[in-house]
Amino acid sequence: MPRVHDPAEANEVPLSPLSFLHRAADIGGDDIGVRTGAGAQVSWSGLLERAQRLAGRLIELGLVAGDRVAVLAPNDLPLLEAHYGIPGAGCVLVALNTRLSGQEYELVLGLAGAKVLVVDHTLADRVAGIRERVTSLREVVTIGAEDTVDTEGYTGWLRTATPAPLRLPGDERQPLSINFTSGTTGGPKGVVYTHRGGYLNALGQVVSAGLRPDSRYLWTLPMFHCNGWCYTWAVTAAGARHVALRKVDPVHALEVIRQAGITHLCGAPVVLDSLVEHRGAQEGAPFDQRVLFAVGGAAPSPTAIEEMSRLGVGIVHLYGMTETYGPSLVCVPRPEWRSQEPEQRAALMARQGVRTVNVESARVVTEAFEDVPADGSALGELVIRSNTVMSHYLDDPEATAAAFTGGWLHTGDVAVRHPDGYIEVRDRLKDVIISGGENIASIEVEQVLLAHPAVAEAAVVARPDPKWGEVPVAFVRADEASAVTEAELIGWLRGRLAHFKVPKQIRFGALPKTSTGKIRKAVLREAVD
Ligand code: ADP
Repeated sequence: MPRVHDPAEANEVPLSPLSFLHRAADIGGDDIGVRTGAGAQVSWSGLLERAQRLAGRLIELGLVAGDRVAVLAPNDLPLLEAHYGIPGAGCVLVALNTRLSGQEYELVLGLAGAKVLVVDHTLADRVAGIRERVTSLREVVTIGAEDTVDTEGYTGWLRTATPAPLRLPGDERQPLSINFTSGTTGGPKGVVYTHRGGYLNALGQVVSAGLRPDSRYLWTLPMFHCNGWCYTWAVTAAGARHVALRKVDPVHALEVIRQAGITHLCGAPVVLDSLVEHRGAQEGAPFDQRVLFAVGGAAPSPTAIEEMSRLGVGIVHLYGMTETYGPSLVCVPRPEWRSQEPEQRAALMARQGVRTVNVESARVVTEAFEDVPADGSALGELVIRSNTVMSHYLDDPEATAAAFTGGWLHTGDVAVRHPDGYIEVRDRLKDVIISGGENIASIEVEQVLLAHPAVAEAAVVARPDPKWGEVPVAFVRADEASAVTEAELIGWLRGRLAHFKVPKQIRFGALPKTSTGKIRKAVLREAVD
């Protein structure tokens, strides 16, 4: 009698983004999967073998399922292969932000309980002596420059390792990675991703960005930020090509876009703006190929959208947070927007949009959990339910419970819903300004400021006021070439906004930023107190 099989053997396989690399190597093993920061080319089979060696090395070191391995490195081959080799050994990847201080590294490595730290030679001084200070650490290994023949460091480590097959997890809910949020709100929190969530969000990104086998993806977005919004896995899923970039120098990035035929890149508006600023170095001629820039982290400015479209660069606007594996809303352009004036179209594209294909539901709700009317003005909190919402905060059941109150992920972002169903984020909960009983969404005021040609960056915060409770104050970084005045900007705002929303004061200068490039409003609020 033939053995009776459980259908689940055939129709249930744990979801894991590791499968994408196996497939890429199966179908186009000799095809170039990665171009490294130094311009070397690595095939899909080559990437798979390197990841297998990394997994093998970790197993030889005695690491077991669930152990954490941290990597502190720029956007290059070692960090990319870590996204496969580390989970392939059953371990959990902790990709560290490259802009932290020594003390912050000590803190997050301790919170993660990292057993191994892999560090790029250019960043090694930041973690000098860390092994003695983080008790969980057993091994710190340095990645040398690409052309060095180091026997001690990472290269030798990989060369002498016996490759181990990349193991799919027994349970797809096993942790894949831990990403620390930068902490514009409180201290760093470790956000735990699962294999299942990583798999689903990566496929969602393939759809949002329209990645295809002939796409070329430029790594302008840090891979340490939500695992590069899951593009570390999405680009592989599409069988497209990763083009590494060790640091984002806009002139160099523009050159690579041209030379390497880049079709896709991601980043925060500041990256987009820096490309716009330096496009002159390329004589502003449009690219030969169609390029799509997926922008997120904050809304892109209307000027950047317009300027980029002149270079033949399309913009897709994404919204997300570390807790949602990166992007979870996308501003899908509606056909009727094409006939709008550029300024109006840019304003529509600055909306955060609708849920991505992998997100089940995104609502804007009142404190009583009722949906706000879709009128474009009633404010509520954006809450999300999705297979791509984090598993939990590491070792922090209280913060996890608070984030999941009512059975939804609370984003802490205040939004409106427009009559067409599109969501627009207006503020973070704690950044809303309440003046004379009226809510002022700082983002709305910032958008109007950013639409002024002389304004490069803007942030609006509350200043306590004896009469109104709070009043808005703006901080502006003007374009270097401009001599724009406070009176001129106030006039510009009064022509476009209800007068109670217009800042009482405008201060000029550089804006303080977090390590991920977000404006530190808390610092600005202190400055106006
Ligand atoms: P952190 O919270 O540490 O700054 P995150 O990357 O998790 O790091 O930040 C997520 C936050 O960024 C969101 O909650 C939201 O406030 C903001 N954000 C992300 N994308 C957008 C966007 N497209 N438009 C406006 N705000 C955005």
